[in-house]
Amino acid sequence: MKIAVIGAGIAGVSLAKSLGALPDYQVELFDKGRGLGGRMSVRHTGAYSFDHGAQFFTARTTGFQAFLQTYQSAGLVEAWWPDIVTLAEAESAGKRAWLEPHFVALPNMNGLCKAIAADLDVRLNTEVDSIEQSDGRWWLKAAGECLGAFDWVVSTAPPEQTRRLFPNTTGQAMDVVRFDPCYALLLGCPGSLPAWDVAVVENSPVSWLAFNDRKPGRDSQPSLLVHADGAWSQAHDDTDREQVKQLLVDAVSRIVDIKPDTVGLHRWRYARVSTPLGQDFWVDEAAQLAACGDWCLGSRVEDAFTSASRLAQWFGST
Ligand SMILES: Cc1cc2nc3c(=O)[nH]c(=O)nc-3n(C[C@H](O)[C@H](O)[C@H](O)COP(=O)(O)OP(=O)(O)OC[C@H]3O[C@@H](n4cnc5c(N)ncnc54)[C@H](O)[C@@H]3O)c2cc1C
Repeated sequence: MKIAVIGAGIAGVSLAKSLGALPDYQVELFDKGRGLGGRMSVRHTGAYSFDHGAQFFTARTTGFQAFLQTYQSAGLVEAWWPDIVTLAEAESAGKRAWLEPHFVALPNMNGLCKAIAADLDVRLNTEVDSIEQSDGRWWLKAAGECLGAFDWVVSTAPPEQTRRLFPNTTGQAMDVVRFDPCYALLLGCPGSLPAWDVAVVENSPVSWLAFNDRKPGRDSQPSLLVHADGAWSQAHDDTDREQVKQLLVDAVSRIVDIKPDTVGLHRWRYARVSTPLGQDFWVDEAAQLAACGDWCLGSRVEDAFTSASRLAQWFGST
């Protein structure tokens, strides 16, 4: 059985790994990005590094805990216990605590996907733009190039993108899924800095600040990663990017005294799932098409892993 998996985020790589371990399964992964990880990516700017998507992950299910053990033993995943505060404009910091382990991958968030994908067949910089059925198989194409013929195609892209690729998906259950966008501001910060590592920010365009270089195993100059509030990001969807950058820099400077020498901006169009599908995965058995990812079950890395591992179990049982 030959399977094409679209997307090399945590759902795609963990699905490909599980399917590849089944007898007679041959899996190829395609991702349009330059690197692995999807929303668990890292951005390097000079001496600064930023996990500009997922900041950490939790492991609440025994399945994910067991899966992570190999990577924890190899030093590629560690618990992160930052000094965390709550901040608001014109208010003093309040102490906060995390009540469960929060994990990060090393040396950056995409380190986990890279390790999982180490022995997988992955093609990066390859945006699948069409799939066509002929002789009972799916033929994938990217920029006019034929990527081969497959028995099944599994997409881990958000539903809007999956539906553009998959034929006859109008009116499908996936229509209910909704995402919030998120702007990420990337600040290189030399000079004196606050003692806290992470701040949850209230009543501001900004919702999260984290000194990325203080996460375990990072090799970077002081790098402040800022996430904008979801509603604010949505409201500024059409705003000129330079203006968004300036508005966010101004918002940060009203909360914390820093003098960045590097300022970058990234917009995540599909950042956090606000309405998930509410089922483990999506499958059209007759057409031999399937989809999985965080958006099936929730909004977290662990949801993406769980959705992918349940789809792999389904393949293993059919
Ligand atoms: C700003 C932000 C903060 C977050 N914070 C956290 C957090 O702290 N904790 C947490 O648990 N989760 C967090 N998340 C959510 C977490 O990142 C996701 O739940 C998880 O990474 C989703 O993994 P996935 O594999 O389902 O999807 P993705 O990582 O989005 O992977 C899908 C992949 O498909 C690829 N793709 C799409 N279309 C195509 C195509 N046509 N051809 C080829 N490739 C294609 C994309 O390039 C992408 O790599 C955050 C997300 C964002 C954006």
